[in-house]
Amino acid sequence: MRSFQNPIKGLSVTPISQKPLTVVLILGESARRSSMHCYGYSLQNTPYADSLIRNQELIPFTEVVSPASATIQSNTRSLTFFTHEEGEKPWYQYPSIVHVLRQAGYATVWIANQEITGEYSMSNLFGRQADILTGNPSFFKGIAGDRVANRTDLYDEAILPLLQHYQSLPDSLRKNSPQGLFQIVHLMGSHFTYRERYPKAFDKFTPDSLPVRKGEAKDKIIAAYANSLLYTDYIIHEIIRSYREENALVIYLSDHGDALFDEDHPDLMGHALLPRAVEIPLFVYFSPQLRKERPDLWKQIYGQRNKRILTDLLTHSLVDLLGIRTEYTQPRFNFFSPTYDEQRKRVVVAPIANKKLVM
Ligand SMILES: [Zn+2]
Repeated sequence: MRSFQNPIKGLSVTPISQKPLTVVLILGESARRSSMHCYGYSLQNTPYADSLIRNQELIPFTEVVSPASATIQSNTRSLTFFTHEEGEKPWYQYPSIVHVLRQAGYATVWIANQEITGEYSMSNLFGRQADILTGNPSFFKGIAGDRVANRTDLYDEAILPLLQHYQSLPDSLRKNSPQGLFQIVHLMGSHFTYRERYPKAFDKFTPDSLPVRKGEAKDKIIAAYANSLLYTDYIIHEIIRSYREENALVIYLSDHGDALFDEDHPDLMGHALLPRAVEIPLFVYFSPQLRKERPDLWKQIYGQRNKRILTDLLTHSLVDLLGIRTEYTQPRFNFFSPTYDEQRKRVVVAPIANKKLVM
């Protein structure tokens, strides 16, 4: 497997909490900000996020862009110390967030509701670096990434019973993990085809619900996309609910968005190197316990919510936020901190070589 596996130099930890912390990183799929009610979309498809935001329990970041318009190119940048400043060097020469947090004293878990067996699946590239790799049993049977149509066993709720808790980890793993638990949950999210991503109960919006009509075929797809985000909103809330009584930090972001028959490209749908297709949601949640212990940190993150961000800095930012320093540490790369350099260029790449969008 191609990955950085050496000890990380210069590693030190100043924990942000007195008690072991659970950090959950929810990795969404194909969710774009402009189609979510909590970011101003007209359909009410994020009721749980809306309510958490109203109660000041969830911080929505408003100016976040993914580093690529497709899954692998985006996640390999978000989940490692690799940034566009490193030029043409391969991303796998940089430590992953799983590798760093494991060395820093966290038990690491990868829970997949996406392809597990393929050479370029995220589970293969990153999940296998975790102490525990688990996921939807259907994927362990070996469904290829492109054969996820016409299936009802791939709804994201399959991962809910697999969520891990620090107190229930195997004794030996907990003893070796004094900092806590780091868990990545890789969702199926709004992976095409949208209408197959949610159970019937979430089939709420129809073409008639849409504020602008674009023809029956397109409207059906747009409504199904809104429903898939309604379902993601429920899944995120269920995950947050699982950790509400614990010492926990939850982050949600998407790997990229999709084009959706937008005004400037009325026939384009899916992966695209266009602003709307790479403008993504990012939420931060602290459990009441953590907010009580670290109101200063909560306030600090809140102060950063409108900063212009490219999520190739996710690993830099989260590692730094957790008080972990390494030879890679650069305060200007932590978008959760006022030291962040907002003037940094946001360079988005397409899977096809040499195509770039600077935002
Ligand atoms: Zn993707």
